[in-house]
Amino acid sequence: MTARIRDFLRKRTDDGPCLVVDLDVVRDNYQAFAKALPDTRVFYAVKANPAPEVLSLLASLGSCFDAASVAEIEMGLAAGAAADRVSYGNTIKKERDVARAYALGVRLFAVDCIAEVEKIARAAPGSRVFCRILSDCIGAEWPLSRKFGCEPAMAADVLEHAHKLGLEAHGVSFHVGSQQRNQHAWDRALASAAAVFRECGERGINLSMVNLGGGFPTKYLKNVPTVKAYGTAIFRALRKHFGNAIPETIIEPGRGMVGNAGVIEAEVVLVSKKSNEDDVRWVYLDIGKFSGLAETMDESIRYPIKTPRDGDELAPCVLAGPTCDSADVLYEREPYQLPVSLEIGDKVLIEGTGAYTATYSSVAFNGFSPLKTVHI
Ligand SMILES: *Cc1c(COP(=O)(O)O)cnc(C)c1O
Repeated sequence: MTARIRDFLRKRTDDGPCLVVDLDVVRDNYQAFAKALPDTRVFYAVKANPAPEVLSLLASLGSCFDAASVAEIEMGLAAGAAADRVSYGNTIKKERDVARAYALGVRLFAVDCIAEVEKIARAAPGSRVFCRILSDCIGAEWPLSRKFGCEPAMAADVLEHAHKLGLEAHGVSFHVGSQQRNQHAWDRALASAAAVFRECGERGINLSMVNLGGGFPTKYLKNVPTVKAYGTAIFRALRKHFGNAIPETIIEPGRGMVGNAGVIEAEVVLVSKKSNEDDVRWVYLDIGKFSGLAETMDESIRYPIKTPRDGDELAPCVLAGPTCDSADVLYEREPYQLPVSLEIGDKVLIEGTGAYTATYSSVAFNGFSPLKTVHI
């Protein structure tokens, strides 16, 4: 919570939940990444918060962009980044979209299989490609599972195929899982990346880039290491696995760039019990899974929540959203501690909500509007 957000909320009079993002925090985060990894280029993962205010600020600071669709590429360009500062980092693309990206000037593409390489060779001839390898995501609170990437043993075949088709086999990428609280998680992934470099080298293909992905955390309820600690651990792992031949590197922070810049103000709609004997209250907010808090799925992300009654005695409650869908429960398996004195009409502040909230809110499920957002 920053003084600027506090001032803004003090003056706010309109109804309904609202996300307020402090752009000064985004600026500080960008500078912290640039300082912690001085030889690494930053490709902000647009999906975390694609607001034009965020993108143009980052473009002006020198950031590049990791885009997952043509629309995200266009957002990066509209924010002022030239096409050579945009990476089409989704491994799953229609060939038509590859062609549109190429027409827009994009020359850097992610792949994780032969079929995708062939699309790029046809629709974006001569471009650079990097092959994403699987990562186990151990230590991540929002793991990205097996959907993206191939086994490291297959990556050399994918890159060799790219080379044969006239593409530039540029390097390797991975993502250690989002909200990765262990700064040493990059070590194993870099060992695999170095093995792909060696295998390609033996086949006469010299890779030059490692894309270290995202995964840098935001502080929610638990503490997380500093960006500096991540920088140090990553640099050590690069030295360990690449020796004196450290390749060009890029990072793609999303959550770590914008998460702590945002706060959602919401309201308590109802506090109730299911029986007289119940010792766990149900607290219903005017925001839920369909209006921005989708990352509470499986109770993965636990947001810090501030109330006007902090300091009073705490008791566990089930926290739920306002819609008529029973999936719209935020925390039940592990009930959330809130003040017993909390009342209907109280305003609560949900912190660390600058990433993966506004664009996850539905158009108007049950008549609830998408999350209002203000960037200050
Ligand atoms: C989502 C995504 C990111 C950002 O991940 P964070 O954990 O939010 O930093 C980076 N790279 C790729 C390819 C992604 O899909």
